[in-house]
Amino acid sequence: MRRISVFGATGSIGQSTLDLIGRDREAYHVVALSGGRNIARLARDARSFGAEIAVTAHEELLTDLREALAGSGVEAAAGPAALREAAARPADWVMSAIVGAAGLAPGLKALEQGATLALANKESLVSAGPLLMATARAHGATVLPVDSEHSAIFQALIGEDISAVERVIITASGGPFRDWPVSRLARATLQEALNHPNWVMGQRITIDSASMFNKALEVIEAKEFFGFAPEQIEVLVHPESIVHALVGFRDGALMAHLGAPDMRHAIGFALNWPKRRELPVARPDLAQLGQLRFQRPDEARFPALRLAREVMAAGGLAGAVFNAAKEAALDAFIAGRIGFMDMAGVVERVLAEMSSAGGLDDGAMTLDKVTAADHLARIKAGEAIARAQQQEA
Ligand code: NDP
Repeated sequence: MRRISVFGATGSIGQSTLDLIGRDREAYHVVALSGGRNIARLARDARSFGAEIAVTAHEELLTDLREALAGSGVEAAAGPAALREAAARPADWVMSAIVGAAGLAPGLKALEQGATLALANKESLVSAGPLLMATARAHGATVLPVDSEHSAIFQALIGEDISAVERVIITASGGPFRDWPVSRLARATLQEALNHPNWVMGQRITIDSASMFNKALEVIEAKEFFGFAPEQIEVLVHPESIVHALVGFRDGALMAHLGAPDMRHAIGFALNWPKRRELPVARPDLAQLGQLRFQRPDEARFPALRLAREVMAAGGLAGAVFNAAKEAALDAFIAGRIGFMDMAGVVERVLAEMSSAGGLDDGAMTLDKVTAADHLARIKAGEAIARAQQQEA
């Protein structure tokens, strides 16, 4: 039986992961499940899968979790330290699907015990790619990409020599605002940003898709995971979301990965790797689709992509700063404090301030340094958000 843990089990990726595991229960022993505020769902799944331990990220919810698990034999725990402890429990395969930088520390713990880490939490790679990959190497652990674009690149590279890669193309659906002019984007509402045309995802990544911050994170993720040079990584808007990525080789060949927009595809690939097994996903009907379109993204309307290039050029802690400022700006947009286009303005300002203050340090990366940069970036983002609000008033 494979021992598995799912961090972020109550979210969109976590639930899709449990859906796949639930179809073959005999094959898995569930060690740990984690969640945040959704205690009812966490307790339901921990009972149903007979998990050893269920952990909520929020200490104040421990009593609720204990009550919800009463009589089940499932251990209850809460807080960031408990998350790390649960991730340190021996497991063969660990899903990292917490949203945000909070996923980094449990992911590192899982790698330290030599697990295969299925990485949906792209923020870990953006904030601390060199640290994460070095930790995996030091402990003989494996990191498998779960982001659909990176899973697609990974699959297109099977049996290939990575040094023969000339370029990779990551596709973006373009989100709900693909054709909106900047003037209209500035007034975009939360509800409009949540109306993704192709994918059903958690709230935060859905808004990041609308602003292209998600694609910006993915460009950095591709650099950190595969080691591509920034200039090798291209983005194309592809409204149908059927081609997830393409890999171009030095002989001019372009290998594409196609699939229905269903995250169970990439999750299932990581779960079954290195084998392929049947998955309950729709098979694309290309004749019915009729056409697959590709366009260059407009960096004037979606400045996140330009910022990602600046982050890659700066290196060091720029990724941690970028991600933390983006998370703070996203919170402010969700709370109605700043407008849609202000998010990129806040991130740009924080990057500029921390860079001129020498806060992007490119020495050896440690978790303490990443955490400190993340913390300071959130403070600076708070100041930039307040300024944006004053200008609005
Ligand atoms: P969701 O918002 O649906 O779920 C996030 C999960 O993280 C939930 O279990 C949530 O708990 C938990 N959580 C929230 N805050 C914290 C915290 N501070 N500490 C610990 N746990 C926390 O997100 P998604 O499933 O959409 O995304 C998860 C990750 O996967 C993200 O990094 C995202 O970028 C990535 N990803 C997602 C894709 C998708 O299709 N959804 C596609 C590719 C990548 P609760 O809900 O109980 O509060």
